[in-house]
Amino acid sequence: MVTTPQEPVYVIGAGPGGLAVAATLRARGVRAVVLEKSDAVGTSWRGHYDRLRLHTTRRLSALPGLRIPRAYGRWVARADLVRYLEAYAEKHELDVVTGVEVHRIERAGDEGGGWVLHATGGRRLTGRSVVVATGFNHTPTVPDWPGLDTYEGDLRHAREYRNPEPYAGKDVLVVGIGNTGAEIAADLAEGGAGRVRIAVRTAPHILRRTTAGWPAQRSGILVRRLPVPLVDLMGRGLARFAAPDLSAHGLPRPTAGLASRVREGAIAVQDVGLVAAVRAGKVEVVAAVEALEGREVVLADGSRITPDAVIAATGYRRALEPLVGHLDVLDPRGRPLTRGPRSAPGLYFVGFANPISGMLREISLEAERIARRIARTAPKRK
Ligand SMILES: Cc1cc2nc3c(=O)[nH]c(=O)nc-3n(C[C@H](O)[C@H](O)[C@H](O)COP(=O)(O)OP(=O)(O)OC[C@H]3O[C@@H](n4cnc5c(N)ncnc54)[C@H](O)[C@@H]3O)c2cc1C
Repeated sequence: MVTTPQEPVYVIGAGPGGLAVAATLRARGVRAVVLEKSDAVGTSWRGHYDRLRLHTTRRLSALPGLRIPRAYGRWVARADLVRYLEAYAEKHELDVVTGVEVHRIERAGDEGGGWVLHATGGRRLTGRSVVVATGFNHTPTVPDWPGLDTYEGDLRHAREYRNPEPYAGKDVLVVGIGNTGAEIAADLAEGGAGRVRIAVRTAPHILRRTTAGWPAQRSGILVRRLPVPLVDLMGRGLARFAAPDLSAHGLPRPTAGLASRVREGAIAVQDVGLVAAVRAGKVEVVAAVEALEGREVVLADGSRITPDAVIAATGYRRALEPLVGHLDVLDPRGRPLTRGPRSAPGLYFVGFANPISGMLREISLEAERIARRIARTAPKRK
């Protein structure tokens, strides 16, 4: 394939990952075009629940080449992060084309010959380098519970949750105790729900967001590269100071170590209200959901409950299969085989690691690595 100076690097997705890669490429004189299926940058953040704030610090969450304004505070609010992403695209004069969804990526020819992107409206775009930044939290998932299809109650994924208003006075079951489930349960309890229960399959590690002013994220950065058994051991020692004991309320300390759980894909929960709510009896911990029957939710301990609403904070899929599944670049869990720099010549992925040190920080580091690599071979802007 002949590369012309006009041929840009295509970046798929205008979230933090795609914007960071485009900006770092631009800083190296490489033309990048960001293709975004929605109508704006930062779509994921526009859709998250109202009270969400970053649990990583402002300083450690900024993307390359633009600080997050000090006025946004240490824990940046969702709406401010959206403002920051808009300002980021503007400051770096990024070429973002909205309303274009890339459906499939194919090799243009022999290995190393570039890529063809099939996109909205029959578009066929070619490029030597392509960066996939479509998001770790791409498609909401709900477990395939028996009876799901015939459940008669109100069940929705956490992605649809905005604030507690519609749940005033209601009996709500939140399923899943990741960061999202924990925060939504606290939000409901503080926001006037009649009864809040949280269904827990595996007790999580719960950390204070800061201990004596020291953010949990900084500890995550310090231990990021240490061996898993060592971090597990350190975590057990630290737990007494950094993690509250909720055993009396049905949340025992987890048996698996902190880093082992991260390796399994379960990041520690940073407490932004759940602990107080559980201690005050405003959020009750119940067993995992096993099945749904009519209007009833069947729990793993055999009990049956009939909440007014169920909110499934049960995670997301990467959903990379339609895009690149045929290229042999995904592992059995559907994640890119090689994150960061490259997994096939000229095909890069950003934002598919969920490390203990914070994903936005990781995205910035990955973006720099990818841009450096692409810049070595790509033609420069005129
Ligand atoms: C509730 C929540 C809270 C989080 N809090 C933090 C935090 O405090 N700190 C932290 O470091 N990380 C946090 N993260 C993790 C991570 O930083 C964010 O998910 C971040 O938005 C990831 O950026 P991204 O660009 O990889 O993906 P996204 O922000 O999801 O962006 C992907 C973009 O790609 C677009 N897209 C998808 N498919 C296509 C396609 N086929 N064609 C064209 N466009 C497409 C989407 O519309 C979207 O705009 C949080 C995640 C969640 C879900």
